[in-house]
Amino acid sequence: MATVKNRRILLGRRPTGEPSEADFALSEIELEDPQPGQMLLRTLWLSLDPYMRGRMSDRKSYAPSVQIGDVMVGGTVTEVVASKLEGFIQGDIVEGRTGWQEYALSDGAGMRKVDPALGPISTALGVLGMPGMTAYFGLFNIGQPKPGETVVVSAAAGAVGAVVGQLAKIRGCRVVGIAGAPEKCAYVVNELGFDECVSHREPDLAEQMEKACPKGIDVYFENVGGRVFQAVLPWLNDFARVPVCGLIAHYNDIELPAGPNQVPLLMRAILSHRLTVRGFIRGDFLDQQASFFEDMSRWIREKRIKYREDIVEGLENAPGAFLKLFRGENFGKLLVKVATAVKA
Ligand code: NAP
Repeated sequence: MATVKNRRILLGRRPTGEPSEADFALSEIELEDPQPGQMLLRTLWLSLDPYMRGRMSDRKSYAPSVQIGDVMVGGTVTEVVASKLEGFIQGDIVEGRTGWQEYALSDGAGMRKVDPALGPISTALGVLGMPGMTAYFGLFNIGQPKPGETVVVSAAAGAVGAVVGQLAKIRGCRVVGIAGAPEKCAYVVNELGFDECVSHREPDLAEQMEKACPKGIDVYFENVGGRVFQAVLPWLNDFARVPVCGLIAHYNDIELPAGPNQVPLLMRAILSHRLTVRGFIRGDFLDQQASFFEDMSRWIREKRIKYREDIVEGLENAPGAFLKLFRGENFGKLLVKVATAVKA
């Protein structure tokens, strides 16, 4: 084992504005053998997610930043190569946060065994993992959609948004997506069963939203912010709920946008329409994981929830692929296939 190299992708420097491939550095170190109480994991799948942009900066957030020279943080599905840790044996498939590298040593903290019977193991990073949970927890706990209500979701063809819309359909709602490319809009309507989808590239986005939501909007699941939020805000009904899941349009901002201060308008809308606007992170609702896995695996089996993966091959291609998230160039859950399972 000692001659095997571990290729890793490190944070090379902190980006200013939109990240670039030059912000990352590829490094190789010799692999160490697991000590008692440890297991050696080989990465099969690496998840690429928008939150990683926040970890690249040193701005204070709900989770610590990656330090320069450290392995980039990331969710993975790995295979146990060797184990000196009770409860894990060679060949087990495990989901955890081992980062952008081909191998990792782990003491088992934060690691979850994946049941391959529930679906392809890559789904443990998507529809049956963090993004799926985010959609389920945020929509049901904060959005609280009721049959017949109108639910709008932005980044609708993405990992979180696609699940949000399908869950709202299961709840009997009218669902309107907002996405970029026409193919993404066609996909969420024709494949996922949304009622309508509006492209945020349309110059008259607010008018398009009014047309798509003739009874106003009861739940707006916010993934984007920026001009998308501005186009939705006028159509929120009294007592509408806004789960604030993400603000990807702002992650690369280096300063506040120019123009008049719009906070008073927002506060007036919140007051006069008695809006509930609540930010959340997936980890706030981990006590609901058991019901998530039960419901979601059943809905996938019943084909009531569909999913799409955007797969890039090879760890070395992770930095370039990551940048696609901020340009709308991913189509589905963005994953890097790092290796194939020995058992597969
Ligand atoms: P994703 O939707 O699979 O990919 C990101 C998508 O965002 C892009 O494909 C693009 O879609 C859209 N986008 C990027 N920049 C944009 C811009 N300036 N204006 C409008 N749309 C833009 O990503 P995801 O993993 O599902 O994440 C979606 C959101 O949820 C992100 O904001 C993320 O940070 C957040 N999130 C939050 C939690 C939590 O715990 N709170 C957990 C997971 C994810 P189009 O091509 O359609 O524009």
